[in-house]
Parts: sequence; C-alpha cells; structure tokens
Amino acid sequence: MNALWSEARVKVSHRLAMHVQVERFRLSNATPMVTFTFDDLPKSAATFGADILESYGARGTFYVSGGLVGLDAPDWSSGSADDVVSLHRRGHEIGCHTFSHRRACDLDETSLAAEIARNRTYFHSLDPTMPVETFAYPFGYGSYARKHQLKSEFRTCRSIVPGVNNGEVDLQFLRAMPLIDRQMSRERIDMAFAEAANMNGWLIFYSHAVADVPSLYGCSPDLMTHALEAAARRNVPVLTMAEAFRCARA
Ligand SMILES: [Zn+2]
Repeated sequence: MNALWSEARVKVSHRLAMHVQVERFRLSNATPMVTFTFDDLPKSAATFGADILESYGARGTFYVSGGLVGLDAPDWSSGSADDVVSLHRRGHEIGCHTFSHRRACDLDETSLAAEIARNRTYFHSLDPTMPVETFAYPFGYGSYARKHQLKSEFRTCRSIVPGVNNGEVDLQFLRAMPLIDRQMSRERIDMAFAEAANMNGWLIFYSHAVADVPSLYGCSPDLMTHALEAAARRNVPVLTMAEAFRCARA
C-alpha cells in the first residue's frame, strides 16, 4: 500500500511539473535551433557520438551523474572521468543529472540540494573551470515541488515529454524528442525539423548509447547522421543547451 501510494504521489508530482510553470518564458531566438543531448555517459556517446557531432562542426550536451561514471549499465559500457574532461575540453557541455541518478520527485529539498552539490563538486574536482548550467531529470520524472529549487540552480531543465519548444515555454520542463531508433523514425525527425522551422522553435533530442546495433534507449550513427543532415539542409544551428538558452534569451 505504501509503495502504491508513493508511486501515485510521484505521478501527480510529475504531471504537475509538466503542466504548472514556475515562470513563463518567451523564446526570442532569431532562428530555429536544435540541441543533441545524451544522458548517463555511455562510453559510445562520449566517443562515437561526440565524434559524429564534431564532424558536423557541432557540439552536444552530456547529462552526467557523477555517481554512475565508470559503472557499466546493463545496456552499455560507461564512460570514464577522462571522457567527461575530454568532452568539456572539446567544447561539449556537461550538464547535471543528479549525482546518484535519483528521480527529482523522490528527493526533498535538502537531498536534492545535496545531490546537485555533490555532482558539482565531482565535476569541479575533474576540472575547476567546468560550468554546470543546465539539468536533465533522471528517468524523465519531473517534480512540481522541486521546480523552484531547480530554477535557482540551473538555466534550463530538460524533460523527456515529446514536442518542439516554441513561443512561451517552461524552462524548468523543456520538451525533448527521443533520438532513439526504437522510438523514432526518420520521417518523424523530418517532421520535427519542419515544425521547428515553421514555429521558429527549439528542437531538443535526447539519447543514450550510440551503436550500429542500437540499445533499447540508444541510437545508431545512421539515425544521428540523419538528424544532423536535416539540420544542415535547413540551416538550423546545432547548439548546446546552454548556448541555445543564451540565444533564446537574446
Ligand atoms: Zn539518466
């Protein structure tokens, strides 16, 4: 009964996080934008994924939980602390994903503050110049109760609720499309770019591992290349979350 009640509470908090904004923010970007994000630091995202982005002159945002670095997941090998540093030095953005990869809705104010502080301390122990400006919700679960707190810590928070961001948006619950072979077709990628172009929107993708045989939540280099080609064809700049936020605020 307690577990059921707890999960019901989590769902309500997530739904409220989705629908109740802390603050309205109107995107003021001059052109449509696209951001590629990767969660949980699979080794292949930090190597192949970053290489593919760089071959298009682009950079991505990598949402890292310090506590998971070097710990292999069931679906992929994990990147290392050296990968985090290398990504940062190559111009990619390192974002916060809590230290322990715990859902925001399971954390009270004190424990979320501790998770964020511990992750920042970890990143700064690797490189004190690493800015940590943006956040992605672990498992995609938002928390209405924690949105004000996250707003005071980060420029943006990324969800996994699908959609293209345009007009008035919720910076503490930005929408994102899966760049995941099992969930996303090339046609839907093209439609998302068309929508971003028509609405002057901000299209955000999220993925995990990058492999020829994609994992359950990952993408193939082909799917990633398809999205990057679509961006190039439409002249949509590929920006990190922090860069895109700065353009959106202009
Ligand atoms: Zn994650």
